[in-house]
Amino acid sequence: MLRRWDSRTPFAGVLRERECPRCHREVELPFGELCRQCRAELERRATRIARRAALLSTALLALYLFLRIPRERVVTTVAAGAAAVWYLLSYLVARKIAREFVK
Ligand SMILES: [Zn+2]
Repeated sequence: MLRRWDSRTPFAGVLRERECPRCHREVELPFGELCRQCRAELERRATRIARRAALLSTALLALYLFLRIPRERVVTTVAAGAAAVWYLLSYLVARKIAREFVK
């Protein structure tokens, strides 16, 4: 743990910004934080990118399954379930990655 006088930003806990570093709107923020509108906009963009990536990868998986699996009821049902799980997991992973890269 850094001692207080060794820290490069010894009073970072009390530093306040007067404007958002992204949109330059006048708000009271902790140092380095974005305003609520900017965070919501970034979250919407990350969600939209993640949804599109998950849909694309799920469509490719469904196409592959459609071409490769035999036409039996049980196999088709399991493949449909796998595609649904694939969509959910790829959406969650893509949203986490998009949150890191969307600025
Ligand atoms: Zn902002």
